[in-house]
Amino acid sequence: MENGPELDLGLGVYDERFQDPLAAADYLESLRWPNGPVCPHCGESERKPYRLKSKSRNLWKCAACRKQFTVTIGTIFEGSHIPLNKWLLAFYLLCSSKKGMSAHQLHRMLGVTYKSAWFMAHRIRYAMEQPAFQQRLTGVVEVDETYVGGKVRRSNLKQHPPLDPTQPDRRKQTGRGSDKTPVVALVERGGIVRAERMANVTGKELKGAIRRHVDPSATLMTDSFASYRGLDKEYAGHFTVNHLDEYVHGDIHTNTAENFFSILQRGIDGVYHHVSEAHLGRYLDEFTFRYNNRIANGVDDAERTRRALLGSAGKRLRYAE
Ligand SMILES: [Zn+2]
Repeated sequence: MENGPELDLGLGVYDERFQDPLAAADYLESLRWPNGPVCPHCGESERKPYRLKSKSRNLWKCAACRKQFTVTIGTIFEGSHIPLNKWLLAFYLLCSSKKGMSAHQLHRMLGVTYKSAWFMAHRIRYAMEQPAFQQRLTGVVEVDETYVGGKVRRSNLKQHPPLDPTQPDRRKQTGRGSDKTPVVALVERGGIVRAERMANVTGKELKGAIRRHVDPSATLMTDSFASYRGLDKEYAGHFTVNHLDEYVHGDIHTNTAENFFSILQRGIDGVYHHVSEAHLGRYLDEFTFRYNNRIANGVDDAERTRRALLGSAGKRLRYAE
């Protein structure tokens, strides 16, 4: 599924592929099988599989192993009773909405139950998951943390020091007794982002994420949080920003990471309202996918949808729904 055709979306949601299950299957076939159908059972493609007559879906039969198949086998669509055209429309809606789309709105727009809409959105996030460590971040990389799902963010704490500095700052407590989950974002300026949830905001966790995702040739930009200390020995450069200082000093800032967090927070708070810690990783996949495939990176709504669809193969959900 590398070189499939473009998805021209001049008609928007009225596109035939969003209205007709067979047109949707034709498109998915052209995307998955640019050189003709491949049998998912035995891998045969030389002896061309042939089409079986079916009113409801595109059904193929392998000339070698004699088994039947459709384009959905081995994809996130496999086993779903939702028509493919509604799946394609759901992909398009989630790919073209900057802050995402709630299961409630998907339910209304697709005409499926709320529960189905929720599971569809979840599978689409899975399709959006990007191969980890495909490429390491290079150039200028901003690293920052935030808290998702709660009321107080550390960036706010930075601007509002504790009232009593002799007492532990209880606002920083996370985990047990807190509904906030820390997330670290690592953003290449003018490039892509990686975001991960963290068990704790410690030097070990933060440096671990940086070492996993950032190439040593990069120059790091972080705030002056103590957990980032010592990275200048491992990276080409490490500049720190003092959030209490209202002036921006030239290129030394973490505005790119803060902009990513701003979209993430508005989506999680404003669209999804509540995101459980167990599912947060999937939402991070969704927001990082859209950010990495954004207009500024030369990717429009149609191409973003096509790329998400390309990610639907080889990804059957392993856990029982
Ligand atoms: Zn076969």
